[in-house]
Amino acid sequence: MGAHDRDGSSTFKTSRVVITVPLAILKAPPGELGAIQFTPRLQKEKVAALDKLEMGKVIRLVFKFKQRFWERISPANGEQTMANMSFLLSQDDWFPTWWTAMPEKTPIITGWAPFDCAERLTSKSAVFVVNQGLETLGRLLTIGVGDLQHSLEDAYSHDWQSDPFSRGAYSYGKVGADGAQEALGRPVENTLFFAGEATDTSGHNGTVHGAIASGYRAAEDVLRGLVDNS
Ligand SMILES: Cc1cc2nc3c(=O)[nH]c(=O)nc-3n(C[C@H](O)[C@H](O)[C@H](O)COP(=O)(O)OP(=O)(O)OC[C@H]3O[C@@H](n4cnc5c(N)ncnc54)[C@H](O)[C@@H]3O)c2cc1C
Repeated sequence: MGAHDRDGSSTFKTSRVVITVPLAILKAPPGELGAIQFTPRLQKEKVAALDKLEMGKVIRLVFKFKQRFWERISPANGEQTMANMSFLLSQDDWFPTWWTAMPEKTPIITGWAPFDCAERLTSKSAVFVVNQGLETLGRLLTIGVGDLQHSLEDAYSHDWQSDPFSRGAYSYGKVGADGAQEALGRPVENTLFFAGEATDTSGHNGTVHGAIASGYRAAEDVLRGLVDNS
């Protein structure tokens, strides 16, 4: 087996390779940044498995404030403050889910924009994403955006959809995807081996532990192939 990068400046030769790129990279059309061109092409079974799996979208936004200002906020008619807030769940169109670092009492709050919320935000400027986050948080905590901006020390977000080497957050199976992860993870001719969260068959695709489990499974596949060959 041989492999080379786009401009051919690095080449590798080996009898076996374990491919652990994200699902969306395997699905990306050859020629696009990060995409892989297989020669000969992947068999129909792999292509069918790729069609049944999809990459979910997420944008995460982390705000670091000067203080934990929510400690002073009391929900309407409530006597308690939000000092112990851990999760804040809503139906907001932009960032419906938020969480603090509880039990650590740090002035950090994280916003989560999944699926269609992420679609609305993807490819937008960092300023746009931060402003939508501040406006959402202001709405949910009934606090003015100006006050939030005044308290904001730093903001960080990452757009996994626009990152050519991830092209999304993590995989999920579409309706009828039973067996697709297994098919995607199956070795090809004792030469190509596949790992990565999208190939996990223990039910934990889309997670770190699923990715790790798939790595062990791929290593076992390689060892089995070596034994079979000897
Ligand atoms: C916002 C967010 C929050 C998450 N939260 C959790 C959580 O709380 N708990 C949890 O268990 N999981 C979580 N996950 C999921 C978890 O991060 C992933 O399932 C896991 O990291 C996938 O590991 P992987 O090795 O399959 O892929 P990756 O970690 O994506 O590794 C694939 C690697 O391939 C590289 N690559 C891409 N293209 C090429 C190429 N052409 N050539 C060479 N290398 C290439 C990439 O740069 C990357 O380093 C989260 C994911 C996201 C995006």
